[in-house]
Amino acid sequence: MPDSVTATIEAQIEHRTAALNAEIRRLRAMLDNLLDPQLLVQPERAAAGRVVDFIVVYANPAACEWLGLGMGQVDAARVREIFPGIEATGLMSRLIDTADTGRIMTIAAFEYPHDSGSRWIDLRAVRVDGQISLAWRDVTEQRTVSFLLERRARTDDLTSLLNRKEALERIEALTSRTGRRIAVLSCDIDWFKTVNDIHGHAAGDSVLQAVAERIRGCLRSGDDLAARIGGDELLVVLHGVRDLDDAVAVAEKLRRRTGEPIHTAAGPIAVTLSIGVTLAHPSESTDALLARADAAMYQAKNGGRNQVVGKRS
Ligand code: GH3
Ligand code: MG
Repeated sequence: MPDSVTATIEAQIEHRTAALNAEIRRLRAMLDNLLDPQLLVQPERAAAGRVVDFIVVYANPAACEWLGLGMGQVDAARVREIFPGIEATGLMSRLIDTADTGRIMTIAAFEYPHDSGSRWIDLRAVRVDGQISLAWRDVTEQRTVSFLLERRARTDDLTSLLNRKEALERIEALTSRTGRRIAVLSCDIDWFKTVNDIHGHAAGDSVLQAVAERIRGCLRSGDDLAARIGGDELLVVLHGVRDLDDAVAVAEKLRRRTGEPIHTAAGPIAVTLSIGVTLAHPSESTDALLARADAAMYQAKNGGRNQVVGKRS
């Protein structure tokens, strides 16, 4: 081949190699700049061809930061070393499946036992020329915020009991289910305005919180619920009571427990509860059920307060 042709080919190769290297630098800079962790890993196979681990070929800075490791510790490290929880969580077998079959792995809100505690991550793994591109996004904070917002929408800020809206929805759901009997306890603190007047609003708030805590302590099963449905109006729903006497006995316990002095910053305060108790009748509306419980509670108020009144119909 004449020298001039060789020189032209060499110049072209040099030119294309430079272009390829520039492309690699650009892609590398883009990967390094990503806010989410990215790894490229090479399957490590046993003699029989079975994948036993993965070796890190590339880790971006976000991956190193998430793993709490320096670049030098991640380069050429084995995935089992840098993700100690990978086997126990079942993630290793999913990665091996992607390496063997080429199936893309996508997992949402995967709980990973990170050094700093449980972290939730969205994960994606793709096979590229026999290697695996593994990317993930830590969604722990979003998950916590949405969990708190959801809880806030369902509960009362002061007492953390359910709020009125949530309580009504749950009662609706409970009464539409057939089976075990439901009792409703309508509770109202006696002379609560006076507590505020004498001890101040902050002390009144502490009393509400303590009463709520005592009510929570009297619930018997996961299906029982307690709500703050108004200023000093509290509602308890017992699921699976035998009869009205059974529900009245729980209400009595609640009344006695609430009557014990509450220690507040303004000193000990004693309050009492008037409680109306009734059982849900088959296929009656939630409104009718609550109206009967309220009527029983008003009977307790009119009867001198600090007492439980059970109402059959
Ligand atoms: P009764 O025995 O008839 O129930 O008398 P009461 O004084 O308790 O009267 P009522 O139940 O009608 O009034 C409830 C009072 O609860 C009114 C208000 O001053 C007080 N209250 C309502 N919400 C709050 C709150 O969030 N914090 C405090 N500290 N007080 C509240
Ligand atoms: Mg009251």
